[in-house]
Amino acid sequence: MPDSDIYQPDNIFARILRDELPAHKVFEDEVALAFLDVMPQADGHTLVIPKLAVRGVLDMPPNAWGPYMARVQKVSAAVKKGMEAEGLSLRQFEGAAGGQTVFHLHFHILPRWAGVALRRHGDAMEKDETLKANAAKIRAAF
Ligand code: AMP
Repeated sequence: MPDSDIYQPDNIFARILRDELPAHKVFEDEVALAFLDVMPQADGHTLVIPKLAVRGVLDMPPNAWGPYMARVQKVSAAVKKGMEAEGLSLRQFEGAAGGQTVFHLHFHILPRWAGVALRRHGDAMEKDETLKANAAKIRAAF
């Protein structure tokens, strides 16, 4: 395996998991952590990461999917309810060529409303107060 395919323990999400970097957390248990994306493509854009040190879908142990996706589902329900969304888009980008920029597995949960287009991926930083307010709405919806 080339070095670039090896999990890097200093990636941003690993540092958030270790509380070395701040995040607007909405959910955490022994399996997963969920927090708001700082460059949201939609209001309430949330990321769910496993606590396992894996780069992407292809590195996840098959028997870890059930517990992890159960958390993705649980967080999705709270995001939809808390943000009063009409629907959701779930996304995952695998490898640099697939659009991945942070190499710790994550699913994007994007609240959707009819007729509201998504903003561009990784385009503009959101105001901290807006992230804080949206995180509070989602936390209250579990
Ligand atoms: P991906 O392109 O699927 O790897 O997505 C990485 C996502 O992480 C992007 O949508 C970024 O906006 C987001 N992101 C980068 N740094 C942070 C951070 N410190 N806290 C929260 N989200 C972040």
